[in-house]
Amino acid sequence: MPNGTSWVTMAGTVTNSGRRHEVGQGSRDRGRPGAAGRARRGDGTPSRRSRRGVGGIRSRRGPGRAMRLRLPEERPTEPPTGYKIAHPVLSQDGTRVGFTGVSLGGALPYGVLDEARCVYGLRHRAPHRRCDCGFHCVHDRTEAEALLCTAEHRAAVLLEVSVLGAYIRFERGFRYARQRVRTATLGPCGCGAVAAALADAGWGRPGWRALTAACAGCVRGRTSLSPAAFARLAGEGLRVRAGSGVAEQPAGLGVSELVAEAALLQARLDWFQTQLAQLDERGSQG
Ligand SMILES: [Zn+2]
Ligand SMILES: [Zn+2]
Repeated sequence: MPNGTSWVTMAGTVTNSGRRHEVGQGSRDRGRPGAAGRARRGDGTPSRRSRRGVGGIRSRRGPGRAMRLRLPEERPTEPPTGYKIAHPVLSQDGTRVGFTGVSLGGALPYGVLDEARCVYGLRHRAPHRRCDCGFHCVHDRTEAEALLCTAEHRAAVLLEVSVLGAYIRFERGFRYARQRVRTATLGPCGCGAVAAALADAGWGRPGWRALTAACAGCVRGRTSLSPAAFARLAGEGLRVRAGSGVAEQPAGLGVSELVAEAALLQARLDWFQTQLAQLDERGSQG
């Protein structure tokens, strides 16, 4: 995210269970979000999780007169949609999945449905007007996709998210309190082929392996999950799609996931048969 992002003076709250809380200094009106959307606790993830989204949106106004003014409010009935990029992660024991942000502050993973905490460990709710904590996303899918062009973000995936709870709107997107990841779209494998799996990317965070899109042929013996398996572990109705610039996949009932899984199995079988054939050849020569 280039510097110079200017914040517009607009705060909002997605209504949830008929209650709301607002982003306002000294406000006591901090109703809790509905239980249905409450982030799961005790899942072993660290309590101080950093929450950077798309690209480290840092620029904000310094403390001044404008900061003391109450922001105009908006209360959409539908959660706004946003886009961001992140790396998929798999827990060390292989039972949980999540995502980790691409910017420096996004050091630790978040779940598909999760709640932001102040990245600096300050005791305020995220997002706070004088801080830059909270989840981040942009309005425009193309803008998020553009971030995937940089070398360091090639292995990241595109997320479509619902902005939940309190948010602060800026010109390109939102900084906000709670998030549901609805869809994760995988880029191509490093070899250029359409992704059939999420495979060990070779790096991670303590307790979490980063995953990256891999085609069936390039997975080999790496730890991997099919897109469907990733979605199952993620829960919360997450959809995982193989993008790769091909035409949008139909929103069928898991057909694309099944096709991807079949392709993965087929390619592994092909690879296995090739190995067998080579062994066979060597055997007959020796
Ligand atoms: Zn903060
Ligand atoms: Zn490949």
